[in-house]
Amino acid sequence: MTLHDTAGAAREFLEQTGLEPTLNRILVLSAVVAHHRPVTAGEVHAEVLREHKLNRVTVYRILDLLAEKGAINRFNSGERAQHYCVGRNHSHFHCTACGRVRCIANEDLHFDESAVADALNLAVSHVDLHLEGLCPDCARAAG
Ligand SMILES: [Zn+2]
Ligand SMILES: [Zn+2]
Repeated sequence: MTLHDTAGAAREFLEQTGLEPTLNRILVLSAVVAHHRPVTAGEVHAEVLREHKLNRVTVYRILDLLAEKGAINRFNSGERAQHYCVGRNHSHFHCTACGRVRCIANEDLHFDESAVADALNLAVSHVDLHLEGLCPDCARAAG
């Protein structure tokens, strides 16, 4: 998928979020969407540079703005750089060996949101669990 395929969707999404769809914002958001996995600001910057000259500070600033407005998710994975991804209400797995991070659908965790909400008497509206361990590649390498 190229940035051009996602640009139209990005523009529409920015408008829905109440952000003016400037070219820079469209490029940054498209770069996050195009990866289908959590990305670092450095990865977003590299992707955007293929299309358009934009300095790193601007990319960081736009990513922060998008995260603050809820257009993208921003999270820390251990000691590594912050990661960004799209899509609501899912969890993340962080491989402590290679540092790769991936999104995990909450359904795949068999996590019972309503049971937890009942047990704690909390109105849970969003679940993002942080999972850590070894990815299949690293688990194999560790023997
Ligand atoms: Zn790994
Ligand atoms: Zn994610």
